[in-house]
Amino acid sequence: MDQKYMRAALREAAKAALRAEVPIGAVIVQDERIIGRGHNQPIERNDPTAHAEVVALRQAARKLGNYRLTQATLYVTVEPCAMCAGAMVLARMKRLVYGANDAKAGGVVSIFRIADSPRLNHRVQIEGGMLEAECREILQRFFRTKRGRSGPLRIAKRTGLMSYDR
Ligand SMILES: [Zn+2]
Repeated sequence: MDQKYMRAALREAAKAALRAEVPIGAVIVQDERIIGRGHNQPIERNDPTAHAEVVALRQAARKLGNYRLTQATLYVTVEPCAMCAGAMVLARMKRLVYGANDAKAGGVVSIFRIADSPRLNHRVQIEGGMLEAECREILQRFFRTKRGRSGPLRIAKRTGLMSYDR
């Protein structure tokens, strides 16, 4: 089941790549139904907070008519940043499943540990490494293609995702 939903998140990531955004995708699932989808799109929306997770969270909360998503699981291709991990805590989300770690900006295990911090009043269950190779590959392919054209550095700076600017 987790793999199936992570594949849906990967399809979201592919949508971002088509629009020249760093390819990260997310879906939110409750009762075996996808209630929110999002892909990274800060450039298109002129919105630094338009990460895949936040886009999906907003959609899911609207759909449920509730800002608390206590029974929901968020699937995302890359470890959430500090902002997105914080948003998951605010939503009291049940569970997070993600693909690749983000060594330079991860807010779940890599840099900060926000989603299950004992210092906060809610802890999200965490499972990393789901379809990790595929999640990493779509990013690497994106930056390989960009290199030599508009340049990965500029894009990474605009999106704040320096971690994958290799
Ligand atoms: Zn984020």
